[in-house]
Amino acid sequence: MRKKIVAGNWKMNMDLAEGLKFAGSIDKYFKEKPSGKALVILCTPFIHLAGASEILKHGKVALGAQNCASEASGAYTGEVSAWMVKSTGAEYVLIGHSERRTFYHEDDKLLNKKTLLAINSGLKVIFCCGEVLNEREAGKHFLIVRRQLEEGLFSLSEEQMDMIVIAYEPVWAIGTGLTATPDQAQEMHKYIRDLVKEKYGNDCAKKLPILYGGSCKPSNATEIFSKPDVDGGLIGGAALKKEDFAAIVEAI
Ligand code: PEP
Repeated sequence: MRKKIVAGNWKMNMDLAEGLKFAGSIDKYFKEKPSGKALVILCTPFIHLAGASEILKHGKVALGAQNCASEASGAYTGEVSAWMVKSTGAEYVLIGHSERRTFYHEDDKLLNKKTLLAINSGLKVIFCCGEVLNEREAGKHFLIVRRQLEEGLFSLSEEQMDMIVIAYEPVWAIGTGLTATPDQAQEMHKYIRDLVKEKYGNDCAKKLPILYGGSCKPSNATEIFSKPDVDGGLIGGAALKKEDFAAIVEAI
């Protein structure tokens, strides 16, 4: 059976004290009320990683970063390498989030480099893909996602694919309140799984978790997660409220 995952992306929210307090309350919540089949991951800003790792280390919740550098080490002022992320105790890193692609102009080639560095540092990668609104309206969404995966991910070996979770996030649904319909999500998730099957074979495709992201909330999570190729969610806004995040995890 495939792993079910709900990952919270805190984005650039909460100062150090607020973030650690929130990580503590999430940790406590899932110790008291285990998340069952779902693996819960918190993707925090870099400043929270080391402290959150201490807080979460005996609990059920895993930790991830939201980005890492495209170089291994050296004179890259302001950057944080994959190995540095790993050294905090984090196990995951988001790569290719649409906000990184859009605001920081991260292209497929760079994302491929970051993905390989992350894997070689021992991090599991939540690799994000998804089309913008005009690409969907022009009927190009499958082509766009295919290119993002072929160029960002498909240089990996089958063994390295074990370190990958894919998150399909239609950009028009992120933070907008618009959500892909469960059928739209299923259609794209199946397409992604078929691409992985074509490239890496059925075993790899069958075990690959594919998450949906984009205005996922307690009121729509159950229906989206009920689709056969949707293995959980990457949650932005609703991950900042414990009750909403917990309700989304429970929807799994
Ligand atoms: C995200 O940032 O990955 C995301 C899905 O955000 P939101 O849930 O707020 O749309």
